[in-house]
Amino acid sequence: MIGGSLGGLTVACLLRDAGHDVTVFERSSRELEERGAGIGFLRATYRYLSDRAGVDLDTISVETRKIRYLDRQGSVVDDQDHRYLFSSWTTVYRQLLASFDAERYLLGHELVDFHQSDGAVSTRFGNGAAFECDLMVAADGIGSMVRARLQPTAGIRYAGYVAWRGMVPEADVPPEVAGLLGDAITYFVHANSHILVYPIPDVSGSVDPGDRLLNFVWYRNYLEGGELDDLLTDRSGARRELSIPPGAVADHHVAEARAHAAARLPWQIATVVDAAERLSIQTIYDIDVDRMAFDRVCLIGDAAFAVRPHAAAGTAKAAEDGWMLAEALTEEQDVVKGLLRWEPTQLALGRQLLDRCRAIGHRSQVANDWEPGDPETVFGLHRPGD
Ligand SMILES: Cc1cc2nc3c(=O)[nH]c(=O)nc-3n(C[C@H](O)[C@H](O)[C@H](O)COP(=O)(O)OP(=O)(O)OC[C@H]3O[C@@H](n4cnc5c(N)ncnc54)[C@H](O)[C@@H]3O)c2cc1C
Repeated sequence: MIGGSLGGLTVACLLRDAGHDVTVFERSSRELEERGAGIGFLRATYRYLSDRAGVDLDTISVETRKIRYLDRQGSVVDDQDHRYLFSSWTTVYRQLLASFDAERYLLGHELVDFHQSDGAVSTRFGNGAAFECDLMVAADGIGSMVRARLQPTAGIRYAGYVAWRGMVPEADVPPEVAGLLGDAITYFVHANSHILVYPIPDVSGSVDPGDRLLNFVWYRNYLEGGELDDLLTDRSGARRELSIPPGAVADHHVAEARAHAAARLPWQIATVVDAAERLSIQTIYDIDVDRMAFDRVCLIGDAAFAVRPHAAAGTAKAAEDGWMLAEALTEEQDVVKGLLRWEPTQLALGRQLLDRCRAIGHRSQVANDWEPGDPETVFGLHRPGD
């Protein structure tokens, strides 16, 4: 397994449970603790933890009961009953890591080369290590080097906007703000933009009211070229490619975002943006592949399709790829035949999610015809496994 994030770890656990001898090779030299942002916690994402690892979901996620829309003045204009679970990237990562074998999770191993021949895959890593395997699963994310090698023609397109993200302890905002935003996913849709806020566990994983964090994701348009280049130049002057981690966004952009929030957003949400200390940015891309299986190598999660986050289904898609892969490899003892059996359904799932998320993004960021209650905007893979 190449990549030991949420996708790679889930698939590694599933293949191990199916009787395979699995090793995870992760590029990072430290455990991946710095990605504390919130995630919509869908069935496919938590299925391994709840069904196989026996984790009580109440201890690692926060339940919300409403999908709520505010107007510019902060009044509730739409409030529908809908149950979601939210967790944080770090909380889910810790649980998956505890479910996998520590001695088979190798940090500091960046895949730099691989070849297939004679029924095996040879891999070479930046630290000089080399291994052979029957199957290489590439869960190396949106910037996948395996995809770049095997699908050089994959469509990679900047969506025209980025996600500003931030978190604030609910205890740090006025009680009426925490009260309004703490039991719902709350949206504000405005000209060529939208922002959503939801509660998540705190950095220690606590889900107790009062300890939790309010997490926001704010989609804002930036023109490709000078405008985006300037945004993605961090406070040390380095030009980042895909994201700027918490605390590294240039000061003038943070100041602009807070001023824009104060001027344009409902006051409760502007309060959250203002109080969040370490803002981060993720650039939004559409990545489309024609194939996911290449003899004894396959792409899963964001290494295959990377979709806009509007369905909160990125980790669910990666996990679903894993459940289906474990099943296909059980049904077909031969790895190459197993991948061929697995690929068509996962290509179809990835394509429909990519198209749906692209359409949702277009509504909000371009056409300005996003309507509360649109079933397409309800989080989920919207089939199989949802
Ligand atoms: C703004 C935003 C909000 C989102 N919200 C949600 C949400 O609410 N719910 C949800 O489910 N999803 C959400 N997503 C999507 C989700 O973050 C991704 O789909 C998910 O992280 C993909 O997981 P992955 O394991 O495929 O890849 P990644 O998490 O990107 O992991 C790839 C791993 O591979 C490692 N790696 C890379 N190259 C190499 C190499 N050469 N050798 C070894 N290791 C390597 C990396 O270090 C990394 O650990 C959101 C995304 C964004 C941008």
